Amino acid sequence: MLIGAHVSPSGGLPKAIERGEALGARAIQIFNQSPRQWKPTSHSEESIAAFREAMAGSSIDAVLIHAVYLLNCASEDPDIRAKSLTSLTHSLRVGQQIGATGVVLHPGSAKTGDVGQAINRAGAAIAEALKESAGCPLHLENTAGTGGTLGRSIEELAGLIEAADGDERLGLCLDSCHLLASGYDIRTRAGMDELIAEISEKVGLERLGSLHFNDSQTPLGSNRDRHANAGEGELGTAGCTVFLSTPAFEDLACVLETPGVERSGPTRAEVALLMKLRTKGLARAAR
Ligand SMILES: [Zn+2]
Ligand SMILES: [Zn+2]
Repeated sequence: MLIGAHVSPSGGLPKAIERGEALGARAIQIFNQSPRQWKPTSHSEESIAAFREAMAGSSIDAVLIHAVYLLNCASEDPDIRAKSLTSLTHSLRVGQQIGATGVVLHPGSAKTGDVGQAINRAGAAIAEALKESAGCPLHLENTAGTGGTLGRSIEELAGLIEAADGDERLGLCLDSCHLLASGYDIRTRAGMDELIAEISEKVGLERLGSLHFNDSQTPLGSNRDRHANAGEGELGTAGCTVFLSTPAFEDLACVLETPGVERSGPTRAEVALLMKLRTKGLARAAR
């Protein structure tokens, strides 16, 4: 498992690599543009080349791009859908340029409308973005299940993949906080086994793409998206250990999106803690 954290690329893409290394990370996640604006940032060829060179000479072996928060591929408004398609396609192209492991996408929201129709709209937009780009995988992130957000269950994620014609570049990004909040008890080995069996049956384990590691401020099934620092939430140290040492996750990039100290983001100590808990969990499983 390549453990790391979400970092800022402000000051230029290569800065993200520097920040990742300062955290002792093996993987990073970045926004390829301001997450709360539609306007795409164009990255020069020099900047892309500098990023690739910095990454090659660093401890970072995987980079994820998180798509803009404003996107709603499932919107009933054709204008929002068109803007979402343009932005997602741009992220996938940047992902291909920088050699990203994947672009992570919140699948969208049905708001108060029909969920089945929303899944079909999102699937069509996602399929189109994949057609307009090449190479870079797209990881659909499971959600906490707040309001009409799509992707609250493995079943719904499977439906989204199907609605996007089952494209081979589609995978899953599993967020530990969102899993717990949406009702998956990932704190126990039995709960994890059940989840992995469901993914295997409905989506296929080959579609496991990446992980977001966050503890949860709110309880199992709360449908609220409130990240806590690792070990300080409802997962606790024991729950974190179980999740991190799951055999099916062995080859995945796993990034923290936690508030950290005074909301300044994940810390070096937290990255180290994750690595330690994973090692501890593997040793326990081997006994
Ligand atoms: Zn996440
Ligand atoms: Zn979240």
